[in-house]
Amino acid sequence: MIELKNREQLQLMRRAGAIVGETLQLLRGLVREGVTTEELDQAAEAYILKCGAAPAFKGYDGFPATLCTSVNEEVVHGIPGSRKLRGGDIISIDCGAFYQGYCGDAAITVPVGEIEPEWRRLLEVCEQSLALGIDQARVEKRLFDISSAVQSYVEKNGMSVVRDYVGHGIGRQMHEDPQVPNFGKPGRGPRLTQGMVLAIEPMVNMGGYKVETLSNNWTVVTVDRSPSAHFEHTVAIMEDGPEILTKV
Ligand code: MG
Ligand code: MG
Repeated sequence: MIELKNREQLQLMRRAGAIVGETLQLLRGLVREGVTTEELDQAAEAYILKCGAAPAFKGYDGFPATLCTSVNEEVVHGIPGSRKLRGGDIISIDCGAFYQGYCGDAAITVPVGEIEPEWRRLLEVCEQSLALGIDQARVEKRLFDISSAVQSYVEKNGMSVVRDYVGHGIGRQMHEDPQVPNFGKPGRGPRLTQGMVLAIEPMVNMGGYKVETLSNNWTVVTVDRSPSAHFEHTVAIMEDGPEILTKV
Protein backbone atom coordinates (compact mmCIF):
# COMPACT_ATOMS: atom_id res chain seq x y z
CA MET A 1 0.00 0.00 0.00
CA ILE A 2 1.30 3.44 -0.91
CA GLU A 3 1.01 5.79 2.07
CA LEU A 4 0.23 9.39 1.18
CA LYS A 5 1.73 12.12 3.37
CA ASN A 6 -0.28 15.02 4.71
CA ARG A 7 0.93 18.60 5.21
CA GLU A 8 2.38 18.01 8.66
CA GLN A 9 4.18 14.87 7.56
CA LEU A 10 5.57 16.64 4.50
CA GLN A 11 6.93 19.40 6.74
CA LEU A 12 8.89 16.84 8.76
CA MET A 13 10.08 15.13 5.59
CA ARG A 14 11.32 18.48 4.27
CA ARG A 15 13.46 18.87 7.37
CA ALA A 16 14.75 15.27 7.16
CA GLY A 17 15.54 15.79 3.47
CA ALA A 18 17.29 19.10 4.09
CA ILE A 19 19.56 17.50 6.69
CA VAL A 20 20.53 14.77 4.22
CA GLY A 21 21.16 17.34 1.47
CA GLU A 22 23.30 19.46 3.77
CA THR A 23 25.29 16.39 4.84
CA LEU A 24 26.04 15.50 1.22
CA GLN A 25 27.01 19.11 0.51
CA LEU A 26 29.47 18.96 3.41
CA LEU A 27 30.90 15.64 2.19
CA ARG A 28 31.36 16.90 -1.35
CA GLY A 29 33.68 19.51 0.10
CA LEU A 30 35.67 16.86 1.99
CA VAL A 31 36.27 14.48 -0.94
CA ARG A 32 39.91 14.72 -2.01
CA GLU A 33 42.91 12.49 -2.61
CA GLY A 34 44.06 10.80 0.60
CA VAL A 35 40.83 11.09 2.61
CA THR A 36 39.48 7.77 3.90
CA THR A 37 35.87 6.71 3.50
CA GLU A 38 35.76 6.29 7.28
CA GLU A 39 36.63 9.97 7.74
CA LEU A 40 33.73 10.90 5.48
CA ASP A 41 31.46 8.64 7.50
CA GLN A 42 32.49 10.24 10.80
CA ALA A 43 31.88 13.73 9.43
CA ALA A 44 28.44 12.70 8.19
CA GLU A 45 27.40 11.14 11.48
CA ALA A 46 28.58 14.15 13.50
CA TYR A 47 26.62 16.54 11.27
CA ILE A 48 23.42 14.46 11.35
CA LEU A 49 23.53 14.18 15.14
CA LYS A 50 24.22 17.92 15.46
CA CYS A 51 21.00 18.53 13.50
CA GLY A 52 19.01 16.50 16.03
CA ALA A 53 18.55 13.66 13.53
CA ALA A 54 19.73 10.04 13.44
CA PRO A 55 21.59 8.10 10.73
CA ALA A 56 19.11 5.86 8.88
CA PHE A 57 21.51 3.21 7.59
CA LYS A 58 23.43 2.47 10.79
CA GLY A 59 22.06 -0.79 12.18
CA TYR A 60 19.70 -1.28 9.19
CA ASP A 61 19.92 -5.06 8.63
CA GLY A 62 23.14 -4.77 10.62
CA PHE A 63 24.83 -2.22 8.33
CA PRO A 64 27.71 -0.79 10.37
CA ALA A 65 27.95 2.84 9.20
CA THR A 66 26.16 6.13 8.55
CA LEU A 67 27.06 6.25 4.85
CA CYS A 68 27.34 3.81 2.02
CA THR A 69 30.57 4.72 0.21
CA SER A 70 31.03 2.94 -3.11
CA VAL A 71 34.20 3.58 -5.13
CA ASN A 72 34.64 3.06 -8.91
CA GLU A 73 33.21 -0.38 -9.85
CA GLU A 74 31.34 -0.53 -6.54
CA VAL A 75 27.68 0.22 -7.23
CA VAL A 76 26.01 0.58 -3.81
CA HIS A 77 26.34 -0.52 -0.17
CA GLY A 78 30.12 -0.03 0.12
CA ILE A 79 31.20 0.04 3.76
CA PRO A 80 33.31 3.00 4.94
CA GLY A 81 36.77 1.98 6.13
CA SER A 82 40.47 2.71 5.87
CA ARG A 83 40.55 2.92 2.07
CA LYS A 84 42.12 6.19 0.96
CA LEU A 85 40.62 7.88 -2.08
CA ARG A 86 42.98 8.37 -5.02
CA GLY A 87 43.00 10.94 -7.79
CA GLY A 88 40.91 9.64 -10.71
CA ASP A 89 38.50 7.70 -8.48
CA ILE A 90 34.79 8.32 -8.29
CA ILE A 91 32.92 7.81 -5.03
CA SER A 92 29.18 7.30 -4.66
CA ILE A 93 28.00 8.55 -1.28
CA ASP A 94 24.55 7.44 -0.14
CA CYS A 95 23.13 9.03 3.01
CA GLY A 96 19.90 8.66 4.96
CA ALA A 97 18.63 10.28 8.15
CA PHE A 98 15.56 10.20 10.37
CA TYR A 99 14.19 13.43 11.79
CA GLN A 100 11.27 13.20 14.21
CA GLY A 101 10.32 9.83 12.82
CA TYR A 102 10.60 10.67 9.10
CA CYS A 103 13.31 9.63 6.69
CA GLY A 104 15.28 11.41 3.95
CA ASP A 105 17.50 9.48 1.52
CA ALA A 106 19.83 10.82 -1.19
CA ALA A 107 23.06 10.00 -3.01
CA ILE A 108 25.67 11.75 -5.12
CA THR A 109 28.71 10.52 -7.03
CA VAL A 110 31.74 12.76 -6.70
CA PRO A 111 34.99 12.79 -8.71
CA VAL A 112 38.29 12.70 -6.80
CA GLY A 113 40.51 15.26 -8.51
CA GLU A 114 40.78 14.88 -12.28
CA ILE A 115 38.95 11.90 -13.77
CA GLU A 116 38.83 10.37 -17.24
CA PRO A 117 36.43 12.19 -19.61
CA GLU A 118 34.38 9.00 -20.09
CA TRP A 119 33.96 8.70 -16.32
CA ARG A 120 32.85 12.31 -16.15
CA ARG A 121 30.26 11.50 -18.81
CA LEU A 122 29.06 8.57 -16.67
CA LEU A 123 28.41 10.96 -13.78
CA GLU A 124 26.65 13.45 -16.06
CA VAL A 125 24.44 10.80 -17.66
CA CYS A 126 23.45 9.38 -14.27
CA GLU A 127 22.66 12.78 -12.76
CA GLN A 128 20.71 13.84 -15.85
CA SER A 129 18.73 10.58 -15.87
CA LEU A 130 17.68 11.36 -12.30
CA ALA A 131 16.56 14.85 -13.35
CA LEU A 132 14.51 13.37 -16.21
CA GLY A 133 12.98 10.78 -13.88
CA ILE A 134 12.06 13.45 -11.34
CA ASP A 135 10.42 15.49 -14.08
CA GLN A 136 7.96 12.61 -14.60
CA ALA A 137 7.03 12.56 -10.89
CA ARG A 138 3.79 14.43 -11.49
CA VAL A 139 0.16 14.00 -10.57
CA GLU A 140 -1.64 11.81 -13.14
CA LYS A 141 1.57 10.35 -14.55
CA ARG A 142 2.19 6.68 -13.85
CA LEU A 143 5.02 5.21 -11.84
CA PHE A 144 6.84 3.60 -14.75
CA ASP A 145 6.90 6.90 -16.62
CA ILE A 146 9.70 7.70 -14.17
CA SER A 147 11.40 4.34 -14.80
CA SER A 148 11.15 4.64 -18.54
CA ALA A 149 12.53 8.20 -18.62
CA VAL A 150 15.60 7.07 -16.68
CA GLN A 151 16.21 3.93 -18.72
CA SER A 152 15.75 5.43 -22.15
CA TYR A 153 18.12 8.33 -21.48
CA VAL A 154 20.82 6.08 -20.02
CA GLU A 155 20.63 3.52 -22.81
CA LYS A 156 20.55 6.22 -25.49
CA ASN A 157 23.93 7.24 -24.07
CA GLY A 158 25.32 3.70 -24.37
CA MET A 159 25.28 2.92 -20.65
CA SER A 160 23.11 0.58 -18.58
CA VAL A 161 20.79 0.76 -15.56
CA VAL A 162 21.10 -1.68 -12.68
CA ARG A 163 18.09 -4.02 -12.38
CA ASP A 164 18.73 -5.68 -9.01
CA TYR A 165 18.32 -2.51 -6.91
CA VAL A 166 15.53 0.03 -7.24
CA GLY A 167 14.15 3.21 -5.75
CA HIS A 168 11.32 3.18 -3.24
CA GLY A 169 8.58 4.98 -1.41
CA ILE A 170 9.80 6.66 1.77
CA GLY A 171 8.33 8.15 4.93
CA ARG A 172 8.18 6.69 8.41
CA GLN A 173 10.16 3.79 6.97
CA MET A 174 13.19 4.20 4.76
CA HIS A 175 11.79 1.64 2.33
CA GLU A 176 8.04 1.80 1.69
CA ASP A 177 5.83 0.89 -1.25
CA PRO A 178 6.06 1.27 -4.14
CA GLN A 179 9.31 0.02 -5.61
CA VAL A 180 10.63 2.49 -8.20
CA PRO A 181 12.64 0.61 -10.83
CA ASN A 182 14.98 2.41 -13.19
CA PHE A 183 13.63 0.43 -16.13
CA GLY A 184 10.16 -0.24 -17.48
CA LYS A 185 7.52 0.71 -19.97
CA PRO A 186 5.82 4.13 -19.84
CA GLY A 187 2.11 4.39 -19.09
CA ARG A 188 2.17 1.52 -16.59
CA GLY A 189 2.16 1.14 -12.84
CA PRO A 190 0.16 3.06 -10.23
CA ARG A 191 -1.08 6.57 -10.97
CA LEU A 192 0.97 9.20 -9.13
CA THR A 193 -0.92 11.39 -6.69
CA GLN A 194 -0.38 14.36 -4.38
CA GLY A 195 1.39 13.31 -1.18
CA MET A 196 3.36 10.37 -2.53
CA VAL A 197 7.03 10.59 -1.59
CA LEU A 198 9.52 8.59 -3.63
CA ALA A 199 13.27 8.01 -3.44
CA ILE A 200 14.28 7.96 -7.10
CA GLU A 201 17.77 6.57 -7.53
CA PRO A 202 19.31 5.54 -10.84
CA MET A 203 22.41 3.34 -10.56
CA VAL A 204 24.18 3.60 -13.92
CA ASN A 205 26.99 1.35 -15.15
CA MET A 206 29.39 2.29 -17.92
CA GLY A 207 29.37 -1.35 -19.04
CA GLY A 208 26.79 -4.09 -18.57
CA TYR A 209 23.90 -3.90 -16.13
CA LYS A 210 24.81 -7.00 -14.14
CA VAL A 211 26.00 -6.71 -10.56
CA GLU A 212 27.16 -9.07 -7.83
CA THR A 213 27.76 -8.86 -4.08
CA LEU A 214 31.27 -9.24 -2.62
CA SER A 215 32.04 -11.76 0.13
CA ASN A 216 31.49 -9.12 2.85
CA ASN A 217 27.78 -9.59 1.97
CA TRP A 218 27.29 -5.85 1.46
CA THR A 219 29.37 -4.27 -1.28
CA VAL A 220 27.68 -4.54 -4.67
CA VAL A 221 30.00 -4.33 -7.71
CA THR A 222 29.55 -4.51 -11.46
CA VAL A 223 30.19 -8.01 -12.81
CA ASP A 224 32.38 -6.58 -15.60
CA ARG A 225 34.09 -4.22 -13.08
CA SER A 226 33.16 -1.18 -15.17
CA PRO A 227 32.62 2.00 -13.11
CA SER A 228 29.19 2.81 -11.74
CA ALA A 229 27.46 6.02 -10.62
CA HIS A 230 24.52 6.63 -8.29
CA PHE A 231 22.41 9.74 -7.81
CA GLU A 232 19.31 9.84 -5.63
CA HIS A 233 16.76 12.33 -4.36
CA THR A 234 13.75 12.06 -2.09
CA VAL A 235 10.92 13.66 -4.08
CA ALA A 236 7.41 14.66 -2.98
CA ILE A 237 4.68 14.66 -5.63
CA MET A 238 2.79 17.92 -5.22
CA GLU A 239 -0.16 19.39 -7.13
CA ASP A 240 2.17 21.89 -8.79
CA GLY A 241 4.93 19.41 -9.63
CA PRO A 242 7.76 17.44 -8.10
CA GLU A 243 9.40 18.87 -4.98
CA ILE A 244 12.95 17.70 -4.28
CA LEU A 245 13.29 17.35 -0.49
CA THR A 246 17.01 16.52 -0.46
CA LYS A 247 18.49 19.40 -2.46
CA VAL A 248 22.30 19.24 -2.27
MG1 MG B 1 19.98 6.06 -0.62
MG1 MG C 1 17.21 4.87 -1.41
